Amino acid sequence: EQPVLAVIGRPNVGKSTLVNRIIGRREAVVEDTPGVTRDRVSYDALWNGRTFTVVDTGGWDPDAKGMAERIAQQAEVAMTVADAILFVVDSRVGITDIDERVVKLLRASKKPVILAANKVDDQRGELEAAALWNLGLGEPMPISALHGRGSGDLLDAILDAL
Ligand code: GDP
Ligand code: MG
Repeated sequence: EQPVLAVIGRPNVGKSTLVNRIIGRREAVVEDTPGVTRDRVSYDALWNGRTFTVVDTGGWDPDAKGMAERIAQQAEVAMTVADAILFVVDSRVGITDIDERVVKLLRASKKPVILAANKVDDQRGELEAAALWNLGLGEPMPISALHGRGSGDLLDAILDAL
């Protein structure tokens, strides 16, 4: 019944850390090794009196084979069932080829997309986050999933999109 937010992005960009930040609990598994969240996992979230479902996914890699391919399929399913998509990019790494391809799929999905520029742990990171305007998805929201920087504004944007 409640609206669904799917969190997608390449492995290791901080999706699971951000999911924990959104739900306010440490339930999504965070790992230093890419590709740990292998399937879609749903969690209940509450912000400003509104409830929604957050779907954490494995990393998106369109060229992946085997297990990684399964992860990508899960992300694609998540994108299909979602009411809005939270696309997470590591602002320290910047835009990769995979991100560009994901943007095309996001456009095709015609779902509302919120662009999170993650790992902006301090003021210096803001410039790198601004570079993500080049993805053509609108304003990148600078956040630090690890430290909580920008998470209130992000949650407000999520509610607006759902
Ligand atoms: P996922 O593969 O996209 O789900 O990424 P994870 O949430 O598992 O995080 C991958 C790594 O990035 C972990 O070592 C996290 O602690 C780290 N990480 C996540 N968010 C941030 C952030 O905002 N700042 C920094 N410095 N590291 C982060
Ligand atoms: Mg994960």
